[in-house]
Amino acid sequence: MNDPLVQKFDRDLLDEDRCREWFLLWLYGSSICCPRCGHPLKKQRVPRFFQGKISYCSHCGKKFYPLRGSPFHSSKLDYQELAAILLLWGLGVTPDVIAALLKRQKVAISGAVKKIEALKRMDRCTF
Ligand SMILES: [Zn+2]
Repeated sequence: MNDPLVQKFDRDLLDEDRCREWFLLWLYGSSICCPRCGHPLKKQRVPRFFQGKISYCSHCGKKFYPLRGSPFHSSKLDYQELAAILLLWGLGVTPDVIAALLKRQKVAISGAVKKIEALKRMDRCTF
């Protein structure tokens, strides 16, 4: 945190579209399943999912947003912040420092880190 370049980091350095795609790819992998029935999303609908738009399950008719049914469903953090947390935490940056860089409360960062750690230990298709 003493590095002046690190201190100048903030979420606005990150492209929103790329952060959403990258975070969702980490969260789900490339095969997307319906949160209600578990049926795989049709291939032609996957790009729309990664654009953050409502997806439609052709099997059961469920409409859902990308984070629906995931541990980040009710998160107040946006995709840029989630991607930054995933990256910085993976590089060994502590939640205190991440909170300062993103100008967020430590509890929000710690909560996201706990979810990330829990997800690393499980099969993503189980939520
Ligand atoms: Zn479905």
